[in-house]
Amino acid sequence: MSRSKRKQKNKNVTSIAIKINAISVRKLFFKFLIINIALMAILTVFWCLNAEKTFYGELVETAERSFVFYPIETSKYTVVWDNGKTMVKEAKDFLYMLRQTVILLGIVELVFLLEEIIFGTAKVRRILKPLNEMAETASRLSNMTFDEEKFQNLEDAISKISPVISDERISIGDNELQGLEDAINKLLDRMRESYRQQARFVSDASHELRTPISVIQGYANMLDRWGKNDESVLEESITAIKCESENMKNLVEQLLFLARGVNGKTQLTIGRFSLNDMMKEVLEESRMIDKNHTYNYIDSEDISILGDVALLKQTARILVENAAKYTEKDGFITLRIGINDKGEAYFSIQDTGIGIDEKDVAHIFERFFRADTARVRKDGGTGLGLSIAKWIVDSHRGYFSILSRKEIGTRITVFLPQKL
Ligand code: ATP
Ligand code: MG
Repeated sequence: MSRSKRKQKNKNVTSIAIKINAISVRKLFFKFLIINIALMAILTVFWCLNAEKTFYGELVETAERSFVFYPIETSKYTVVWDNGKTMVKEAKDFLYMLRQTVILLGIVELVFLLEEIIFGTAKVRRILKPLNEMAETASRLSNMTFDEEKFQNLEDAISKISPVISDERISIGDNELQGLEDAINKLLDRMRESYRQQARFVSDASHELRTPISVIQGYANMLDRWGKNDESVLEESITAIKCESENMKNLVEQLLFLARGVNGKTQLTIGRFSLNDMMKEVLEESRMIDKNHTYNYIDSEDISILGDVALLKQTARILVENAAKYTEKDGFITLRIGINDKGEAYFSIQDTGIGIDEKDVAHIFERFFRADTARVRKDGGTGLGLSIAKWIVDSHRGYFSILSRKEIGTRITVFLPQKL
């Protein structure tokens, strides 16, 4: 904005501030005036009643009263009672005292008024500052000249940039279009991040599917060559193909669950349910499926929470499955529920298994992550279980806590903060 225009604008603001201040000074003056009149009236009434009571002993409503104020030298207050008794009291001293009081008060009020007159305008200007700035910005925007060329440059820059391949950003070096440029760059960053995630997911998933497919293919070739008439090759191939196709089915189901979850297609069915019952059900199922470990269940009170019972049960199953998978035969697995000091309900699964290496703890919720140990290589699954559990717990606004020691065991706790 040019200097003369800004000067003009400041002048406008000052004159508005002066007007607003004049109104407030006037209001303050009238307020003081009313206070002074009321004070004078109250003091006079009080003085009269006091004089009357001292003279007659009591206050009689029907007595006749008159007050001569002027001239002060001869001012008096007269009261005539029904029985003819009369009081004439000089008011000179009282009126002088009253005048002194009002003068003193007036001086103090004058100081306040002067302060308001002198500094008030500046105060109002300060209050008006944001409004003034808003008005300035609005006027700048409305006066902005959008020339064709600028837009052409921006359009060219946008069309040259790929939202998925490069990491390039838009920069056409125009101050006026800086905001727009930043917004587009942020959008590009978000698009690229989500594209990268998708691409990684697809490549990890195809990598995981390649193993069972190769195994099936291998056995099919073997059958083709030698197995048609060889009973033992036939048997082995069928078992292997069955097992691998089962693995593949599980993997595809897990992938579908995650893909639906990320796309917001998995709806939670929230209801109130008993956490105790849910865990007891998981306990019974686990005891039935897995005879190699000893299962225990601990609770201390009845806990009822809000959530999607089917999905939270799935979370508990994922944790129990891991506990069983990564714990030697005859190990112990403990299912526990409770409420922590913060009043949050939780359930935890604890095992006496191989434990998780400290450096791996931060990664176990990542898709396809598996610790690099012999046991995990032998028994480990696809590395999707905990990502699914995390998605479920996140959608319940919950969180995990992990306690693990190598060769001692692991305890994974799910906290579900909510009003119980
Ligand atoms: P699946 O997808 O079949 O569950 P997974 O069990 O390998 O496969 P996650 O459940 O996501 O995958 O677990 C990720 C990794 O975390 C495991 O591979 C294992 O290394 C480690 N882990 C998880 N739970 C435990 C546990 N209780 N004890 C030791 N390691 C564990
Ligand atoms: Mg698992």
